[in-house]
Amino acid sequence: MPPRPQTAPHRRRGDPDIHRAPRRTHHPRRPARKPPCGPLRAFSFGGGWQSVAALVLAARGDLDFDTFLFANVGDDSENPATLTYLRRHAIPYAKAHNLTIRELRRIRRDGSIETLYGRLTREGSRSIPIPVRMSNGAPGTRSCTADFKIRVIGRWLKAHGATATNPATIGIGISVDEIHRANTRRAEPYERIVYPLLDLGIRRADCPRIIRSVGLPVPPKSACWFCPFHRLTAWQDMRRDNPALFTRACDLETLINTRRATLGKDPVYLTRHNTPLATAVPNADTLPFGDDPESTCDTGWCFT
Ligand code: SF4
Repeated sequence: MPPRPQTAPHRRRGDPDIHRAPRRTHHPRRPARKPPCGPLRAFSFGGGWQSVAALVLAARGDLDFDTFLFANVGDDSENPATLTYLRRHAIPYAKAHNLTIRELRRIRRDGSIETLYGRLTREGSRSIPIPVRMSNGAPGTRSCTADFKIRVIGRWLKAHGATATNPATIGIGISVDEIHRANTRRAEPYERIVYPLLDLGIRRADCPRIIRSVGLPVPPKSACWFCPFHRLTAWQDMRRDNPALFTRACDLETLINTRRATLGKDPVYLTRHNTPLATAVPNADTLPFGDDPESTCDTGWCFT
């Protein structure tokens, strides 16, 4: 494979000035690339700050990725604001810079799409695939990230040639301040996981400046709207800005606990405070428990 043309000055690991990378003013469109002939490379695109910043850095030539994979866990499950941002801003920006955002779904054997909300609410379902909080506040075991993101992306990588002898490189958007989230999952044989934002020394706080520097708005936090990893302030924002969605989250929590009660099981909650969501996050300016410490998905496949 011929070497890629150098499109940006070389940067050393930890360079804090990456967001000030000079923009090409005479050739704003990234030149079309030849079809890849080496190992497959793709970036896991969560739709949040880090992913959109990575997209901008790729458009500038600072990141060597031109395919971004968005594992959509369901139009009924993703934060609606994330889907709006994706379609209104991220996909058009990618197209304008010869980059591709591919939206992937979980497909059942019969060819239909399965969504995470659909699995949670399916008639007679006993499974709780999301990390609901136990009475001590700890998250329960979850399968949502593996089933609806990691395997969905893995399936696409394998369908496009990734194998144990020719593994794909998959970029994850973990920033320097979240380095503890890196390397928490063992890679599958068909993939090699890399963390390019760490190599560039990018912090989460750098992302809005990188994104705004090309005229894009800063995206909302990306995660399922019912995710039990949300902080209390995120729930508070939802209750204020999208009360209908907040009510749906409360209804989902009630549905889960009604089913558990028929099985003789203890209730579980969407916050770590051992109390229903509407009580933990009242319709008021102050929170009865204060805010939670930062607690997000520890793998980097969600909330990035
Ligand atoms: S955002 Fe939360 S609920 Fe959604 S897939 Fe990730 S961990 Fe699961």
